[in-house]
Amino acid sequence: MAAQVIDGKKVAEEIRAEIRASTERLAARHVVPGLAVILVGEDPASVSYVTGKEKACRENGLRSLEHRLPATAGQDELLALVRRCNEDPEIHGILVQLPLPPHIDERSVIEAISPEKDVDGFTPINIGRLVLDDPCFIPCTPAGVVQLIKRSGLVTDGAHAVIVGRSNIVGRPLMNLLIRRSLNATVTVCHTGTRNLAELCREADILIPCVGRAGLITGDMIKPGACVIDVGVNQIEDSSHPKGHRLVGDVDYAAAVERAGWITPVPGGVGPMTITMLLWNTVQAADHGCGAD
Ligand code: NAP
Repeated sequence: MAAQVIDGKKVAEEIRAEIRASTERLAARHVVPGLAVILVGEDPASVSYVTGKEKACRENGLRSLEHRLPATAGQDELLALVRRCNEDPEIHGILVQLPLPPHIDERSVIEAISPEKDVDGFTPINIGRLVLDDPCFIPCTPAGVVQLIKRSGLVTDGAHAVIVGRSNIVGRPLMNLLIRRSLNATVTVCHTGTRNLAELCREADILIPCVGRAGLITGDMIKPGACVIDVGVNQIEDSSHPKGHRLVGDVDYAAAVERAGWITPVPGGVGPMTITMLLWNTVQAADHGCGAD
């Protein structure tokens, strides 16, 4: 039987309705969650992400405060801006769009963000809190993955989750999240040093590729009935498509949909969740001054 498709757009809209209810409740207390969005340069992908985030803020009762700096902006200028945002009581969350131009030390900029406004969950303090199982801002893509699993009624407790990829923004925080007592999965993390990738994937009750390689996960690597959450986003050539290309995940979707029990499509799976969880974290910051699951 074909897998049940997990509709990321639908789940994201469900959460956005909850966010709007929270922003209305906060408005009654004269609080408008404010997100400072800092973009350095004009990289088209970054401009598009930032525009999407600003639009999502406006549509859901948050205020987005935009700061666009030229690509030539210096590190001191950027650090000074981050510090001003840290001190501004109208700003509850700070987002610095990555990647930054090569002359800027990304880590110093991230570390300058106040942990209480770190709605991306990228500062060492938040990462430490995540590892320690303390309340924190959870990075948006991993938080979105967990919401997709939970809201599909799937149980993580005791499940074997296999994550493929160990980046600081997806694989690693996802591992720390899934081994929290509240989720209680047993987690295996694979990477380029993993020898038996196919074998490990076949053992997964929940398989989460976050790599960036189209077709890496073939149908025979999926345990029948497993839940497959495809985080990867890859552009492949497709002459039948009006643009000459289209987006796919890391999973061979056509084969996987015949074996998995649940699967997320690309696009329309994890993607819509990431911005939604950014809004969620910003509302939590305005409401409680810290993150909450
Ligand atoms: P990344 O920093 O490049 O990390 C990729 C990871 O995959 C690395 O840990 C790498 O291992 C591992 N890897 C590469 N080739 C592999 C292979 N053949 N077998 C096993 N592991 C392999 O990427 P990222 O930033 O985490 O992003 C991953 C993907 O998710 C990308 O396609 C990105 O576009 C997508 N993404 C989507 C969203 C969304 O909202 N939908 C958000 C973020 C990212 P090593 O550590 O050994 O190099």
